[in-house]
Amino acid sequence: MAAELPRVGIGTDVHPFEPARPCWVAGLLWEGVDGLAGHSDGDVAAHAACDALLSASGLGDLGSTFGTAEPRWKDASGTTLLAETRRLLEAAGFTIGNVAISLVGNAPRLGPRRADAESALSEVLGAPVSLSATTTDGLGLTGRGEGLAAVATALVVRS
Ligand code: MG
Repeated sequence: MAAELPRVGIGTDVHPFEPARPCWVAGLLWEGVDGLAGHSDGDVAAHAACDALLSASGLGDLGSTFGTAEPRWKDASGTTLLAETRRLLEAAGFTIGNVAISLVGNAPRLGPRRADAESALSEVLGAPVSLSATTTDGLGLTGRGEGLAAVATALVVRS
C-alpha cells in the first residue's frame, strides 16, 4: 500500500470588537487596539489555526473540542487552545507540517509585529506558522471595523 499522503485542513473565525477588552491576536497583546468579544480571548488567528489543524487531522472542530459548556475553556487564551490542539493531534498520531493564517480586517496592523507573532505561534505548535494580513477595502463587517476575521490552512502528516 502506498504511504499515506499529507492532509490539509481549513479553518475560519470571526469575532466582533469590544472596546473594554484587551486585544489578543496571533498570541500577542496589541496595545491601543479594541479587544475581541467571545467566550475565550477572541484570538481569531489562533482559533482559525486550531480549526485548520483539527480539520486536517479529522478530529472535529473548535466547537466540538472546546465547547462553551466546558468551564475550563472560558477566557482561555488562543495559545492555550493551540497547545491543547497540538497535544490532541500528537496523541492521535499526527505531526504538524505547517500552518498559514490570513487575517482579514483593519486592525491591528500586523506588519511591524509579524515576525513576533509568527514565532510565538510557531513555538506553541512546534512547526512553522506564517501570517499574512489583508483588508476588504471598506466592505463588509471587517471593512466597517465591526470585527476581525481569519482564515487558516494547515498541513499534517501521520507520525
Ligand atoms: Mg473564535
